[in-house]
Parts: sequence; C-alpha cells; structure tokens
Amino acid sequence: MAKYKRYDYRQRMLIPVSLEQQLMPGTLEFAIHTLVEKRMDLSVFDDKYQNDATGRSAYNPKILLKVVLLAYSRGLISSRQIERGCYENVLFMAMSCNQRPDHSTIAAFVSSMKEQIKLLFADILLVCDQEGLLGGSFFAIDGCKMSSNASKEWSGKFSDLHKRKEKIESKLKALIEDHIEIDKEERAVKEKLSARRERQVRRLEQQADKIEKWLNENDKKIGAYGKELHSNVTDNDSAKMYTSHGTVQGYNAQALVDDKHQVIVCGQAIGQGLDHENLPPVIDGAKENLECIGKDKHYFEGKVLTADSSYHSVTNINKCNEEKLDAYIPDNKFRSRDHRFASRLGDGSKSKKFTFADFQYDEDKDEYICPNGKRLKPLVKDGRHKGKRLRVYRSREKDCHHCQLRAKCLRYKNAKRRHFTYYADASGNNISQAMVKKIDTQKGRKIYPQRIGIVEPVFANIRVNKRLDKFSLRGQIKVNIQWLLYCMVHNIEKIANYGFR
Ligand code: SF4
Repeated sequence: MAKYKRYDYRQRMLIPVSLEQQLMPGTLEFAIHTLVEKRMDLSVFDDKYQNDATGRSAYNPKILLKVVLLAYSRGLISSRQIERGCYENVLFMAMSCNQRPDHSTIAAFVSSMKEQIKLLFADILLVCDQEGLLGGSFFAIDGCKMSSNASKEWSGKFSDLHKRKEKIESKLKALIEDHIEIDKEERAVKEKLSARRERQVRRLEQQADKIEKWLNENDKKIGAYGKELHSNVTDNDSAKMYTSHGTVQGYNAQALVDDKHQVIVCGQAIGQGLDHENLPPVIDGAKENLECIGKDKHYFEGKVLTADSSYHSVTNINKCNEEKLDAYIPDNKFRSRDHRFASRLGDGSKSKKFTFADFQYDEDKDEYICPNGKRLKPLVKDGRHKGKRLRVYRSREKDCHHCQLRAKCLRYKNAKRRHFTYYADASGNNISQAMVKKIDTQKGRKIYPQRIGIVEPVFANIRVNKRLDKFSLRGQIKVNIQWLLYCMVHNIEKIANYGFR
C-alpha cells in the first residue's frame, strides 16, 4: 500500500524574513533601492512637508518613490494596486520597509511632484553619465500616442458640445414626461419603473450640468492655423489622435534617446497628435536636463539627430539648424526615391502628382524648371508667414494650358498654372528641400535607418515589458509626471544592466 507524507493546511509556521535580503544585487529592484538611497537627492521634497512642529510623521518620499518605481516596472499603474502590493507582495514589503501607504497617499505623492520630477529625472541621468552610458554623439527622437484617462466621446468643438448638451436635455425631457405617465400606473409597476427612471434622470442631469459648467469655464482651443480644435470635457489638455490601431483620446509621449545604451535624455507628454511642432520643446527639455548634470549649453552642436518623416516640418528643421544639430529627418516620399526600395514600391508610376523633387533649380536665374522644361519664375521672394521666410514661384498660364502633364502637375483640374511655395532659410534656400537632398545622399541613407534600433526598443520596453498602454492621470502636468517616471524606470534598468556591473 502506498504511503505518503501527511499535510495539514491548518498548521502554522513562523518564517524569518530579512527585508534587505529580498533585494538581490543585479536586479531592477536592487538598482531602484540603491539609487534612491544613495544617488538621488530627495531633500527636494522637504519643503512640501510642514509637520516638524505639529502633525503626524509623513511617509518618507524615498519609500513612496521606491514603491512607485517598482510598481511601474511591473506594469502596476493604479495606486490601489500599489497599495495592495505593499500588503501582499514580499518585494513591495521589502521596498517599503514594511510600511503600508494607502492609495490616496500614493496618488497624491505622484500627482504632486510637478516641481521635483525634473530634478529626480536629472539625478538618474547623471548616474547614467557617470556610469558611462551616454554616448553623446547620436540621438533619435520619436513619439508614442497613448490613451489618457478621458473618453473621446466627451470630445468635440464647442458647437458639438452644445449639441450634445441639447440632446441630453431633450432625452431628459422625454424621460420626465414618461415618469409622469408611470405615476398613473399601478403601484407595483410604478415603484419598479420609477426607481429606474429616477436613476436615469439623475445621470442625465449630471451629464448636462457637467457640459454646461465646462462650457462656461473654458475657452475654445485654437490650433496653429487659427482653426478651432476639439476640446475634451474630462481632460482638455489631451487630444484626439489617429493611430494605426484607431483613434484615441490621449497624449503623444515623446522621448529623445541616446544611441549608446538607449538612455532617455528627455521625455515629454504632449497633447498634440502631429509631430510637426514637437521637436523644439523636447530639444529644449533635453538641454535643460543636460545642463542640470553639468553639460555645456551648446551640447547638441554637431551631434547627429534622426527622426521619422512625421517630424519633417519647417519648425522642427529650423530648430535643428538653430542648435547646429546634424539632423536627418526625411520627407514621406524618401523611400520612393531610394533605389533599394524599387522592387517593393514599383517604378513609382502610381504616384499621382509631381513633387518638389521633380522640379530643377536654376541657381543663376533663380528659377525652377518643370518636368515639361518650362520655367517657374519667382512671384514672392521674401514673404513672411508666422515669422518664417516664404518664397513663391509660378509658371506661365500659356505654358500649362496645353501641357500633356497637367494631370500629374496641377493640384486642381481647372487650375491655370502651377505654383509652389516653400519656407526659406536666411540665404533663401528651401529648408525642406535641403533636408530632402541630405537624406538622399549615401551618408543620409546610411545614418537614417539607425534610428529604428535606437528609439523603437525604448517604446517597446515601456509599452510591452512595463505594460504602459494608458495614462491613469488627467492633465498635461500629471501625465508628464507619469511619463517621466516610466522614463526613469527605463533608465534605471539600463543602469542595472550595464552600469553597476
Ligand atoms: S503643367 Fe505647367 S508647370 Fe506643370 S509640367 Fe506642365 S508646363 Fe510645367
């Protein structure tokens, strides 16, 4: 007959736990613990607490920061989950020294570190530099659109929101009329129906009040071209963004990454889906961070920067020129001009219209020659638009009238001639075209593809391994704090893997 060892779940046992020994050297949690204890200056939080004479002792910011960073590294973003972790998970217990901050303390700590977060990020960046993780010669920037804690259903222009409020009010009116009818029904039916109707009425009243209050307190959001943008009643700093997996209401999380170990030099969450104007604030933010760790204010001079075609805009290229960056930002047709993609993209016969690249510039006469061999003369040589220098060229009507290439050249069927406009630098050169030429050189084609290997793994790490797919806070300041905390976790992981060794 088989004989087994006895077991009894009712038995009790005492297990000695050393909190310190739970944090094993070489792990991410050990790196977080060591950095927060020894290499970060958390006295920046001291002014927030006014409890030296009276009041209860507060949780040490070191404990709170460690717990939050550990939680973010494990994909736990909710403060209630973090609180539960401090009760149930031995690693969280070790990190918090068996203290148990509740969810409201954790949430208040994260959302109130507006002043401190940049200094904390700079502390980690300094360690990266001291450990030799910054190459300082090649950078790549990119953005990742992520949902925020706001619904796109509550988004629209002011007129849309007014309409939505009217719709809710008319629904409310119909419900109230229904309610009066129910009053005449039998008692049992009446009680059942009226409770449900009352709940509906209350909910709709709250929604209508919320929209009305919001409309009274806020102004229209106006875009760079003077048009009204969509506002959002729940989080007006967020924006509706189009992504490969549908439309989201959220933020465009930007990261500027150094190529040596993919350390994030600057992170910023911006409520703007298009990247056309996102490069200047990120470069300025990076300069601030680098100055904080003792780098020169001309740090970016001569450094290589790559960005994808969504950044190809006059504002972004101008900023790179200002900083004397050796930037490589292609236009969205660069692949069609690259012979290496010829087999994949065909012979280009499908591309409908001529682009700027199809016109040749005659420097001596300051004229462009069109694909039909006709000349486009300057119409405006030194125009101004939003502070930028503008040039306009146009063809002659009689040249275009019988041209065989009209369909490929003119934007509209009944257009009489071809115009083209570009933003120019101080010497009159086309800013965008100069970048196109740079990208089409052998050097440009060699440097640009390196972008993918530098910046994309960073977003993969944060989105997949650290499981950040949605910001849980509202408002640009708080979302930015959350994004920077994630960037810090990423950089700390780099220190743990390549630095402390
Ligand atoms: S339409 Fe005018 S500008 Fe265009 S190719 Fe023909 S002649 Fe040249």
